[in-house]
Formats: sequence, C-alpha cells, structure tokens
Amino acid sequence: MDLKTPIEYLKGVGQHKAELLKKELGVFTFNDLLQHYPFRYVDRTKFYKIREIEADLPSVQIIGRLASKEIIGEKQSRRLVAQIKDETGVLELVWFQGIRWVDKILQPGLVFVLFGKPTEFNGRFSIVHPELELYNPSVKKSGNLTLQPVYNSTEKLKQAFLDTKGLQRLLAALLDMAAGSVAETLPGYLLTKLKLLAKREAIQQIHFPRNADLLRSAIHRLKFEELFFIQLKLLRNKLLRTQKFRGLVFGQVGGKFNTFYNTRLPFDLTEAQKRVLKEIRLDTQRGVQMNRLLQGDVGSGKTVVALMSMLLAIDNGFQACMMAPTEILARQHYTSLQHLLGEGFLKLALLCGSTSKKERRKIHEALRDGSLDILVGTHALIEDEVQFKNLGMAVIDEQHRFGVEQRAKIWRKNSVLPHVLVMTATPIPRTLAMTLYGDLDVSVINELPAGRIPIKTIHLFESQRLRMFGFMRQEIAKGRQVYIVYPLIKESEKLDLLYLEAGIEAISREFPLPEYRISIVHGKLKAADKDFEMQRFVKGETQIMVATTVIEVGVNVPNASVMIIENAERFGLSQLHQLRGRVGRGAEQSYCILMSGNKLSREGKIRLQTMVKTSDGFEISETDLQLRGPGNIEGTQQSGVLDLKLADLAHDQDLLQQARNEVIDILDDDPELGAEKNLRLKEYFRQNTPGISWNKIS
Ligand code: ADP
Ligand code: MG
Repeated sequence: MDLKTPIEYLKGVGQHKAELLKKELGVFTFNDLLQHYPFRYVDRTKFYKIREIEADLPSVQIIGRLASKEIIGEKQSRRLVAQIKDETGVLELVWFQGIRWVDKILQPGLVFVLFGKPTEFNGRFSIVHPELELYNPSVKKSGNLTLQPVYNSTEKLKQAFLDTKGLQRLLAALLDMAAGSVAETLPGYLLTKLKLLAKREAIQQIHFPRNADLLRSAIHRLKFEELFFIQLKLLRNKLLRTQKFRGLVFGQVGGKFNTFYNTRLPFDLTEAQKRVLKEIRLDTQRGVQMNRLLQGDVGSGKTVVALMSMLLAIDNGFQACMMAPTEILARQHYTSLQHLLGEGFLKLALLCGSTSKKERRKIHEALRDGSLDILVGTHALIEDEVQFKNLGMAVIDEQHRFGVEQRAKIWRKNSVLPHVLVMTATPIPRTLAMTLYGDLDVSVINELPAGRIPIKTIHLFESQRLRMFGFMRQEIAKGRQVYIVYPLIKESEKLDLLYLEAGIEAISREFPLPEYRISIVHGKLKAADKDFEMQRFVKGETQIMVATTVIEVGVNVPNASVMIIENAERFGLSQLHQLRGRVGRGAEQSYCILMSGNKLSREGKIRLQTMVKTSDGFEISETDLQLRGPGNIEGTQQSGVLDLKLADLAHDQDLLQQARNEVIDILDDDPELGAEKNLRLKEYFRQNTPGISWNKIS
C-alpha cells in the first residue's frame, strides 16, 4: 500500500474530515497521519477515588455505582445528568449526545468504570462525555492497552469527532491496514548494532504501546532516526561542498605572521587560542575551503585569532576581510587591528555606509590592484562594486546577524572561494551547534586570558536600591564608568519607555550636574545621535551610560567597570550574559548588579541565580536551553531545528552525539552511499532532497 495515499481515502475520513485534518494538523497523507504521534499517554491501570479528583488532572479513571440519573433541558440544552458514587464522594456525569444509548446502559445500582477529564464548577466536579463500561471484577483485563495515546487535536477537529478518541480510531484502522507498508529507513546493520526497533514496530508501538518499555524503545528509535537524518544531510552537504569547491592552499607560514607573533603580539596566546589557530592552519593547507565557526565568550580573545588567520592569508599572497554587523563594531575592530599591527606593517582600510565617495573609490582601487591587505567593514563589504583582487580569508563577526545568503555573497566574490571564519560571542549549546552549524567545523575558545579578574555579580531587590546608588557613587569616585540598562520590549514598549524615563529622572536627581554627566542611548534616537552619545561615553566625557539594550554587542570601554541591569528578571539568560560582558574589559575589578522586583517567577529566579553562580557562557547557554527550549535561542528560528517531532535538543544530547558519530563513520566508509548496505540512505535522499540530483554529484 502506498503511504502517500491522500488521507481522504482512509475509511472513516470523508471530504470534510480530510479538509480539517489538512488544515488543522497538516495531515495530507496516510504517512502524515502515522507521524501524528501522541503527545502523551494515559495510564489505564490507575484508578482514582472521587475525593482525589483535582481540577488540573488531565484525566481520571474511576469505579463508581450509579446513584441517580435524569434527562433535563430542551432541544440544544437537552442533556442526561447522572450521579455516580464511591465510598469517598459523588461525581456528576453529563451527556449531550447519544443520550438514548447511554440512558439504556445506565441502570441504577450498577457499577461502572469511567474515564475522562474532570472539570470543576461551583466547587463540584463533573465529567462531560466520559468513557464508560460496566465494571466486571472477574474479567482481568489482558491484551488491552494500559497506556492509551493522547493526541493533539483542535476545537474544530473535536467538533468533527476527531478528538483523541476519534484520532485513536483512525490510527488503529490505518495501522491495521497499512502497518505492513511502513518501510524501514535505516540500514539493517545499524539497527542490529544499536539494537533499534524496526520502523514498523516503532510506529505501531508509539501509537499503541504494549507496555512502557516498548514505548520507550519506540520513541528512542524514532528520535534517533530524526537526528540521524539531519546529521546525514548536514555532513553529506559538507562533504559535497569540500568535493565541489577547491580551497586555497596557504602553503607557508610566512614573514608577517611570524614577525607579528614574535615581535608585536603584546601577550602570550592562551592554550585555547593556540589550539584554534592550529585548527585553522590545518584547514587552510588541505586544499579544501574552510568553513569554521569560532565560538568564544566575550573577552576570550577572538580578535587576535582572526587577525592571525588573516595574516596567514596575506603571507600567501592573498587579501583578507573582516565584516561586522554594525558600524560601531566595524570601527572598533578596525581600531584594535590598527593598534595590534602598528604603523606600516600592512595596509588596512575601513569601509562602512558612512565612508565618503572619494575614500570609497580609493578603497575599491586598492582592493582591485591588490595593494590593500585587509578590509574591515559592515555590510558595505558585500556590495557589488567591492571587488577583491584575490580574497583569501573572510572573517565574519557575530554570525547571528548575518544570514546565510550574505555569507554566500562574500564567497562569490572569488572564483575560488575564500576560507571563511565565522565568529560568535554567543555561545551555543553543543547540541544546537551540531544541528545549526553541523555543516561547519566548530572551534571553541573555552578559556579567558590569564590575569582577568572575574566579574562579581550581585542580585539586589528593588528595596535595596539605595545600596546600588551608593555603590555607583563609590565606583565613579574611583574614576570608573557605569552602564545602566533598561529593558525595552516591543510588546510593552510604551510602559518600558515610561520606566526608562522615570529611571533617567531618578538617576539625574541622584547624580546631578556638574559633578556627574550622563549619556542616554535608546532605540528611538537617530543613529547619529546614538553614535554621538556613545562616543561621549567611550571618550570618558560621561560617567554614566543609561541605555536600553541597543548598546552594541562588542562595545569596548575598558574603563567601564559596573553594569547595572534594571528589571533583570525580564531579560533572557543569554542577553544578561552579553550585557555583563560589556564590563570586565580593563584591569579593574568589575561588577554586574542585577536589579529585580521583589516577586520573581521560578524561571526568573533560576536565571538570576545562574548569573550569580557562573560566568561560563556555555554553562549559561545550556541552562537557557533547558529553561526555554531551542525555539527561543537566537538563530534557531529559521533553521528547521524546530521541525523536530520527537527529539528535543535540550535533553537528547547523547542521542544526537551518537547519531552524528554513526553518520561520520558511515560517510567515512562510504562517502557516496553507493554500497548495497546503504541503499536505504541513498533512497532517503532521493525521496527527500528533490533539488539535488544524486547521480550528478557522485
Ligand atoms: P572577544 O573574543 O570578545 O572578541 P577580544 O579579542 O576583543 O575578545 O579580546 C579581549 C581583550 O583581551 C583584548 O583587549 C585583547 O587584546 C586581550 N587579549 C586577547 N588575547 C589575550 C591573551 N592571550 N592574553 C592577554 N590578553 C589577551
Ligand atoms: Mg570581539
């Protein structure tokens, strides 16, 4: 039987139900329905006493004796109401439909087994349309399901009798008919090796589990498959890319690199920096285009690594570029590169939106004739008229803000693609990195330069605000600068702006001119004004910077040693971590003060505790993933990670790693998937990637 058969051909599904299934659940075919997995199961071995019923129980199963019944109401509101009793209390049952049939069964004095969702009204519980059967203690239930599937349904579906029960019926019918047609997708040797259930069995068991163990095995198998094929796609793509695109070969480590390393580098590299440079060095001499993601916490020293990677390119006769998401960041990179390189070492230029026409022309020329070594800039770098003579290394800072297409656009600037190094200061949990960037190589700088003084993080409640003001005064008296950040969230923008205004007023009162000077930066300011205010703070002309979260990732003011975050409980963890990273950049002890209301949600509390407890970005991102799931982690929205039906990146780390390892082994052994034993994998690609013609590739 063809599982691609449209759903309307299933017995019991007419035109109307088919339309609803498509619209409401995205179920178009038999196969889609088989993949509409239960989202939980109810245990039919458990019985409740009536007194134990609570409003938030999803369902209860009860044994009780019928005490009374009556049919009341007219027409639409006609209903059968019955009272059922056990030794602990009375429960009301209501039927609006099938009254005649129920009325016949419900004979006073008989004992029934009931099942349904309890609702509370005026302090009394009732169940509408419970499942009902005569209680028969002598019949031990066997062969019957103890774990019953519960399916997602919608109001519209329920009206068409496609509630959990209805969907159960459809799935039972479909499985009866079509279970035999569920094709295996994983190679047999993998099933044996990993002791995985066959697909057919897994599908059967996930809908109608014979017992809890089999259910677990079924879920395990189907999760594995999900993760396995994502990894297979990613790693196969990577393989194709490396086969298809030659990479520039940086054959030598030359003069610039060595001179810089030996005479200009003002500090020793950390072990992590050395390791990453080694990885990049290896990548760039294999003749394969490098696509590497460099993850490292704020302040871990990514810039030097980027610079030295660019020097590798330059020593081998190529140019390099470095792209940042905003002008401020681009300018900052430009300045720190200038600073690190010193005068006359090589030729460096900055290209931004605000670069003058004349300057632009000069840059374009120098790029084309090869006299410019490194170009730093914003999106301006990917404009068409920017043509390199021979771009060898493209560094992209803050990955999240650049789309994949923009990355590709830099690639296309050469006939042979440059090596690409993507840097991000937003650590991503390992599982996400493996999935989002599974086709990139990932390097991690997991170590801060020595001698960095850890930032002290303190959580204060609103009632302790005076302490905060006192602390600010003290630090400012030492010559330090202070950030105060307010939330500004779209949904509550008006209110937030009021808070911000009130905050600014209070701070201006506490810290009056002329002794204190304050910069104010928020999203409503024009870019030029924002820049002006930022610059005043950067130059030390103001001691306090009040801002909404617009303060840029990567802004570097080493003299700023205090970060105060207002309403900290309203920020996400990674945002808090990013904000904290604005301080601790100089030689002084730095502080982060998290201000919060006195009442905190459980999650809010965990977030603030996590911040106080650790400054490890990876640990923080893991907690964030556990708290909020992958959907809320930056960068996941368009990635397809969220299409996972069963697997959960917050909890299935080990399984993901296992799936990835298996894929790596399989592709090592049989990169073309041409072997007989891998036929099913090849078949999967044929079915699921219509865009790629398999034969052309191999
Ligand atoms: P980020 O990873 O946030 O981009 P940067 O590259 O801006 O970090 O480095 C932060 C600061 O640490 C800079 O002032 C840089 O010069 C300094 N730095 C980088 N590497 C080291 C090191 N190995 N030892 C000491 N200081 C370092
Ligand atoms: Mg940086």
